[in-house]
Amino acid sequence: MDSFADFKIKRQLYNALEDMGLEKPTPIQKASYSTILGGSDFVGIAQTGTGKTIAFLLPILQELKYSEQPYPRVLILAPTRELVIQIVEQIDKLTPYITIRTLGVYGGTNIKTQKRAIAEGLDIIVGTPRRLYDLALTNVLRLKSIKKLVIDEVDIMLDFGFKTQLRNIFEYLPAKRQNLLFSATMTPYVNQLMNGFLVNPVKKTMAISGTPLENISQECYPAQNFYTKANLLNHLLEDRVEFNKVLIFVATKVKADLLGETLNYGTEVSVIHSSKTQSHRSRAIEDFENGTSRILIATDVISRGIDIEKISTVISFDTSFYPENYIHRIGRTGRAEEQGRSILLFSEKEIPLKDEIEKLMNYKIPLKEFPDEVDVSYLLSPEESKPVDPEEFEDKDSYIMKGSAFHEKSAKNSKEKVERKSYVRKIKERYKKPIRRGDKIQNMKKKRKKK
Ligand code: AMP
Repeated sequence: MDSFADFKIKRQLYNALEDMGLEKPTPIQKASYSTILGGSDFVGIAQTGTGKTIAFLLPILQELKYSEQPYPRVLILAPTRELVIQIVEQIDKLTPYITIRTLGVYGGTNIKTQKRAIAEGLDIIVGTPRRLYDLALTNVLRLKSIKKLVIDEVDIMLDFGFKTQLRNIFEYLPAKRQNLLFSATMTPYVNQLMNGFLVNPVKKTMAISGTPLENISQECYPAQNFYTKANLLNHLLEDRVEFNKVLIFVATKVKADLLGETLNYGTEVSVIHSSKTQSHRSRAIEDFENGTSRILIATDVISRGIDIEKISTVISFDTSFYPENYIHRIGRTGRAEEQGRSILLFSEKEIPLKDEIEKLMNYKIPLKEFPDEVDVSYLLSPEESKPVDPEEFEDKDSYIMKGSAFHEKSAKNSKEKVERKSYVRKIKERYKKPIRRGDKIQNMKKKRKKK
């Protein structure tokens, strides 16, 4: 499947691809074409730039027969007006030799004009959720004829608070349909959709195109808690030559802010997450881009929109809960044939998550020894020592989905706080030798074996 010719697509589509100058399918296009064509539900974890739009359009257009029926058979939902326009443009480019009626609908434009266009008959409707729902409510747009539903950029949909609109739209759709979901990051909401609305979906995860993982050297350090991780970062980041443009990923907004305050590098550090104002975010990204700040701390969702070149190092301060997100994180470095570096910090509790990541990549991340000169902290951060507040998560569902696990974790944390003083003694007793900083991973390994 190294050429579009291998796809056995109809001549009209093939010619359009040729006109567009496209010869070789991208990995997501290869991974999805026959699955989507076969009728399965599909989840693609792929970012903009991977060719995901054509990945879903090609099999849809291959199958869509000429029809004069008035109501649309394909519904494509996208979070922004810009994305709707882009998708409609791609459809136009792919269909100069096919008769297909397409319409893009979004807010901020005259709904009456859109209603008139719908009334003329449609095959594919592309829209933002709110406008689409408004149109469905008017009954001008009938959705019972939809055979295929595509939801693009699901993670952004959620970030924009479109969940209710999506649910409302689902009510109007026939139960029997093919669902195709695309998201750059794996989120609990994607997971929820996968489990709740999709039938045995096929899931594929793509690295950002042009960033083969071979470009990226990976390593990981054991570090037990927030402040130990922060101490390690303060130590590593002293090397301004090696760490000249560093993107640090953290799990929560609170942690992002706390890490920003804990790092020793003052104005060299910027923090972005979804509670920061747009102007703050833009300035932070600009400063990072032009080198005014050397270190950018970000959450997974917010980092979506960032397209910054020449990131020397990606640091995963937390091990990502979804292994796919780790692949996206590290894809931020090593772009355009450059060598990139990824450092993952993991606590003992995060070992199962690290195992998942390694399973997905089929690669064991080389382990570094915790440097002797770095202090291990026994202090717990406020997050580590109190029950988890769902509001602190970028995606509140993650709290609900993982609720029991988090409660266990926080219960364990409060226990740890009480037992903090005896930690060194406990370790000594368990391993019959004193714990030194460099010994920690030995201890972790042994404990893992014991389980
Ligand atoms: P997307 O990931 O859908 O946002 O696509 C990003 C860009 O990649 C678009 O400008 C497409 O025209 C382009 N593109 C899509 N498929 C291919 C391909 N097979 N070869 C080269 N470029 C492509």
